[in-house]
Amino acid sequence: MSEASRPALAYIGLGSNLETPREQLRRALRSLDALPLTQCVARSSLYASAPIGPQDQPDFVNAVAAIHTRLSPLALLDQLQALEQRHRRVRRRHWGPRTLDLDLLWYAGLAQYHPRLTLPHPQMPYRRFVLEPLAEIAPDFTLADRPLASYLPALADQPLHRLDD
Ligand code: ADP
Ligand code: MG
Repeated sequence: MSEASRPALAYIGLGSNLETPREQLRRALRSLDALPLTQCVARSSLYASAPIGPQDQPDFVNAVAAIHTRLSPLALLDQLQALEQRHRRVRRRHWGPRTLDLDLLWYAGLAQYHPRLTLPHPQMPYRRFVLEPLAEIAPDFTLADRPLASYLPALADQPLHRLDD
């Protein structure tokens, strides 16, 4: 197999706090696997987290998925945003409630700043609901050369618990 045809490993963060969030996430995980040129290779448990920002909204359900994809980073982002739309996501306010949020956390180690796509996702180090599910499926993952576990003590005040699937 040539270098160019080898798929890239990427991690996607999923979140929902409206309209039966667990069902939204299960459906989204199936949809990720059905994206063109893409396979879902691992998924974390589902987790419940308290909202960041406005508190007058339901708790979130979160998960992280690992995919193999031959889509470019921006083509993948396009697909993720189309998927959000298919879940009838309505953007009402920043950090407000949503039926489905899909963040491209990490793509083959790429580091870039772009108004549409910053990689790795800039909020990753500050979000327990991203780092714990990621650690579950990628225990050896390092972010800026630091193991995930080294970020977690500073985030212990963010409520998070694993849900029974
Ligand atoms: P948030 O997830 O912070 O509530 P949105 O999901 O509405 O906000 O995303 C806002 C914008 O962030 C999107 O239009 C997208 O182009 C941009 N963006 C930048 N980097 C990323 C990334 N790594 N993953 C997903 N979106 C990103
Ligand atoms: Mg988002």
